[in-house]
Amino acid sequence: MSVLEIKDLHVTIENKEILKGVNLTLNTGEVHAIMGPNGTGKSTLSAAIMGNPNYEVTKGEILYDDQNVLEMEVDERARLGLFLAMQYPSEIPGITNAEFMRASINAKRAEEDQISVMQFLKELDQKMQLLNMPEEMAERYLNEGFSGGEKKRNEILQLMMLKPTFAVLDEIDSGLDIDALKVVAKGINEMRGENFGALIITHYQRLLNYITPDVVHIMMDGRVALTGDAELAKRLENEGYAGISKELGIEY
Ligand code: ADP
Ligand code: MG
Ligand code: MG
Repeated sequence: MSVLEIKDLHVTIENKEILKGVNLTLNTGEVHAIMGPNGTGKSTLSAAIMGNPNYEVTKGEILYDDQNVLEMEVDERARLGLFLAMQYPSEIPGITNAEFMRASINAKRAEEDQISVMQFLKELDQKMQLLNMPEEMAERYLNEGFSGGEKKRNEILQLMMLKPTFAVLDEIDSGLDIDALKVVAKGINEMRGENFGALIITHYQRLLNYITPDVVHIMMDGRVALTGDAELAKRLENEGYAGISKELGIEY
């Protein structure tokens, strides 16, 4: 079992404190959802885990099995087994989607353990079928001309091919139609298991109709304000953030 621990994390952007002490523990085998109103720091949390240099960590820790993640470079974090969907949003000309994925897989593996082209293509084909992706998407240049929905689907394909220990998926559901949403959920559900943990960040409940989270956290004003089970997301759907903020006495 592995564990990703976020302890009293404070993050500042341009001298403004956005995260004001986030505490969260994610174990492999678990899927956690982080919900919360706009501007509350959800993407900031994801950026800090990823190691985006624009986000300054002023206090607190991120530990991966007791290793200090904050001291690691972005690629070190990836090799360790952290997957951040936002790592790949940009278009990279000149490298195909398939080449990128095979290179990423091999970058995490020792010399004698590189994935063969045959094995890679076999797995790729299988996962693409599961995600209803047309074969030609593997040979397209990375993200070039991908629609919003295709990019998200492709992120899930990368997730399934790279098999990280922990994934942080920020707004993986935004802008998706219902069919694409179901496909994304199917991919994430397929990944679930004792060697995988995920933080799914969303501000809508609808993705959680297809992925039942083990734990739901509500972030408000730069902190985890409330933690519960899947029922908490349903309550939110009925009451909105206003009800919960009033109950907790937190302004957002
Ligand atoms: P969420 O993902 O919960 O909607 P964000 O983490 O994106 O929230 O943003 C939290 C706060 O930080 C917001 O007030 C936002 O305006 C501010 N913020 C985010 N990124 C930047 C940035 N690069 N420069 C300045 N302020 C930022
Ligand atoms: Mg936002
Ligand atoms: Mg956000």
